[in-house]
Amino acid sequence: MKRVAVLGGGPAGAVAAARLAAAGVETVVFDEKLAWEKPCGGGITFKAYDKYPFLINNDTPKRVVTETMIAAPETGSASLQLTKPLLVYARRDLNQMLLDRASHAGANIEQARVLGIDREGSRWRLRTAKSQLDVDFCVVATGARNPLRNVGTQFTAEDSMTALGYFVPTDQAHIDIQFLPDLEGYIWVFPRCGHLSVGICGKGFNAQTLRKMLERYMAEKGIPVKDATFYGHMLPSLEKPNWKANRLQGEGWAAVGDAGGLVDPITGEGIYYAIRSGDLAAELLLDRKEATYASVLREDFIADLEFGAALAKRVYTGTFLFKSAPQRMVQFMRRSPRFLSLMQDLFAGTQNYIDLKDCLLRKFNGTLHEIMLNTFLRQMVTG
Ligand SMILES: Cc1cc2nc3c(=O)[nH]c(=O)nc-3n(C[C@H](O)[C@H](O)[C@H](O)COP(=O)(O)OP(=O)(O)OC[C@H]3O[C@@H](n4cnc5c(N)ncnc54)[C@H](O)[C@@H]3O)c2cc1C
Repeated sequence: MKRVAVLGGGPAGAVAAARLAAAGVETVVFDEKLAWEKPCGGGITFKAYDKYPFLINNDTPKRVVTETMIAAPETGSASLQLTKPLLVYARRDLNQMLLDRASHAGANIEQARVLGIDREGSRWRLRTAKSQLDVDFCVVATGARNPLRNVGTQFTAEDSMTALGYFVPTDQAHIDIQFLPDLEGYIWVFPRCGHLSVGICGKGFNAQTLRKMLERYMAEKGIPVKDATFYGHMLPSLEKPNWKANRLQGEGWAAVGDAGGLVDPITGEGIYYAIRSGDLAAELLLDRKEATYASVLREDFIADLEFGAALAKRVYTGTFLFKSAPQRMVQFMRRSPRFLSLMQDLFAGTQNYIDLKDCLLRKFNGTLHEIMLNTFLRQMVTG
């Protein structure tokens, strides 16, 4: 592989570029903004920094958060002590750190918007406003709003969530997660260095309605909108049937991160999957392994995310014994230490969705209360 272009310098592109450049491949990263405050919570799970320690072992400012309050309508909240804390970054800082890694590894970082990519024989010709460049391979890391129509996921209307929020110049120590009636999504409050990222994501509601829901919540909580900065973006959330047909690769290109729709359809976690897919795409390019990128991703995490896509609606809008699933979750968290520990594992990313069924059989079969909990979880997991 002589020359690779990485289109987009977010987490997916920066990590792919670092690995390719470190192996001696001529690598050029194009990003129209370079490091920027991409609309995001900025939360990074234990699963992510355990696999990629450079996410925690660095001098970049970040919050290490050890408590989450999970709340559901008319049920109050339950506290989750995070034995494996969540890191929260401002995205400008995170992106800068990842781009610096790529640059130190030898990647050439260019601030430019890629306007188009055209196939010329077995190579690509890239166009920016000022120049053009011929490359052998394109790593497509242009995010959820990928403007390059011939490569990456073709999102249908149902395959995304609207996500919006405010950066608020106040502080709190813990994370808040708030479920709302009939919303396939949630509100979050993530503490960062110097401000909070407060936001809402949801499927099937327009941005205006979601913004009203969020502002009502902020008013109730006393979080001021005045002096806050508004943000909004699309969050990939592929429906189960659409994972199989997802356009992840083609002749001379592979899509990584949000450009490939690689986001957890339940939690909205995307940074880990961006980094993981960038890393795996680079590894396959370097090793010229026979396995295809799509099949490697499927084995690594897509099968689990696809399973999660089938659970998402039940988790957010399902019911059990006349209460909503989130209300039951909060109640069970208060009553069952074992359920609390399962929630901790889910939050840390160390419990995947596919293995939930086996985990239920092992963990919840003792007291009458746990048998009820088991029935609830079975209904959630198996439908
Ligand atoms: C509101 C919100 C909250 C979120 N919260 C979390 C969270 O707390 N934790 C979590 O894990 N995930 C979260 N996510 C998801 C996470 O932000 C994404 O999954 C992640 O940023 C994907 O990384 P990426 O590198 O694939 O894409 P991006 O971070 O979107 O990067 C794409 C890059 O490509 C560049 N680009 C695009 N087009 C071009 C072009 N034509 N030419 C040159 N450059 C281009 C852009 O400038 C951008 O820098 C959230 C998402 C949203 C919308």
